Amino acid sequence: METLAIRSAVGAIRLTTTVASQASFRNCTVSSAFVGKNLGLKTFLSTSAVPVQQKLRCVRAEVGAKTVPVVAKAANRKASIKDVPESEFQGKVVFVRADLNVPLDDARIITDDTRIRASLPTIQHLVKAGAKVVVASHLGRPKKGPEDKFSLKPVAGRLSNLLGQTVELAPDSVGPEVESKIAALKEGQVLLLENVRFYKEEEKNDVEFSKKLAKNVDIFVNDAFGTAHRAHSSTAGIAEFVPKSVAGFLLEKELAYLSGAIKSPAKPFVAIVGGSKVSSKITVIESLMNVCDKVILGGGMIFTFFKADGKSIGSSLVEEDKIGLAKNLVALAKEKGVELILPVDVLVADKYAPDANTQECSSSHIPDGWMGLDIGPKAIEQFKEALKGSKTVLWNGPMGVFEFDAFAKGTYAVAESLAGLTKEGAITIIGGGDSVAAVEKAGLADQMSHVSTGGGASLELLEGKVLPGVAALDGA
Ligand code: AMP
Repeated sequence: METLAIRSAVGAIRLTTTVASQASFRNCTVSSAFVGKNLGLKTFLSTSAVPVQQKLRCVRAEVGAKTVPVVAKAANRKASIKDVPESEFQGKVVFVRADLNVPLDDARIITDDTRIRASLPTIQHLVKAGAKVVVASHLGRPKKGPEDKFSLKPVAGRLSNLLGQTVELAPDSVGPEVESKIAALKEGQVLLLENVRFYKEEEKNDVEFSKKLAKNVDIFVNDAFGTAHRAHSSTAGIAEFVPKSVAGFLLEKELAYLSGAIKSPAKPFVAIVGGSKVSSKITVIESLMNVCDKVILGGGMIFTFFKADGKSIGSSLVEEDKIGLAKNLVALAKEKGVELILPVDVLVADKYAPDANTQECSSSHIPDGWMGLDIGPKAIEQFKEALKGSKTVLWNGPMGVFEFDAFAKGTYAVAESLAGLTKEGAITIIGGGDSVAAVEKAGLADQMSHVSTGGGASLELLEGKVLPGVAALDGA
């Protein structure tokens, strides 16, 4: 494997955002690629003679005595498990970073195994190909090293059941005991490593820890979309120290749908954005306005827009300090020729509770003492109409407080509209987080083209950011 440190000619170049010229890269005798922030290495490497030009990923550059982590720009397409002939996996140690961070109850029983199920296609493919499969994941947020309540033990059991073969849980994620367990693996066997976050080095993307994880690994398969927006040792750092790094089926599917939606959507493209606060979705809305024909807004964030428009909003949720921002978004939509749609009516409540008294009222005048907790019946029709004929729909964030049945109608109605559009051939994408919980609660998840498994990661992807866990992979 080539070393990823940059020495010689590049070492002499200052590490700044505009440091390297294409010529510098061409002339230097580097053993790997160096990417400074915004260097546009994609262009350099696709035209230059750097030997690892297919490897656009997280690397560390050694500049003088200083080691500086730098992040690669994404290649157009990342290598995936599909690019590797099945025969190449046979007998190889394949390290799969999956997202098995499932919810557990107090008795440590898994309450939702969606994430385990979502990781099965990749693991099953590798088992069938005769790989020695080493699966790693985090679970929860352990802060004090190993703790029983964050052990992956329940996951090993469920994974064994779902795969129909025993999955042994290693006592650790690195170290001699793990190494000997990996060495003893037979083709087609699966070993689950203990929670990688038992080491604080994991979240620091520590080089030494990354090297330990990479020890004796032939191929790294990242399938953990839910953590791909984090540059951690098991999601990004490890890729520096293994000969081959590719995306698993799940990661590839997420990228195809979510990146595909913002790069080349079938038109008309409608985005529906809801949820509690406009502040957490601002960058996504801005980014979507570059590609969408319409942006429909719902959820708690609408009241900041109404207030910005001088309407009375009663005691509805509002972000006073984001009123200017809401005005800017309205102006941006006009400038970009995007239709920004706000609900014409809302369902208001006299308190934030499942048994609150309710009434429907126009969005332009919410009475004092009442708060909007869902879109109203006219808005449901308005949104249905706006969605008609769409070819791509992306949805992130519920239309109301769907956790209370009394305020779930708007969210369910949108879910039903999307299910109908999927049947008509549209691409419908649920972009992670609470909207996923909503379509699941509505029993319509399987009627969407794609339901994302990552909340934060899907938002960052939609914002147009490069995810470190993706950047770290080999170019296709
Ligand atoms: P987010 O995480 O930003 O997508 O927000 C999801 C949360 O927004 C859900 O828990 C909803 O209950 C909440 N939400 C949706 N509509 C409203 C509303 N009108 N008022 C208060 N909270 C809301």
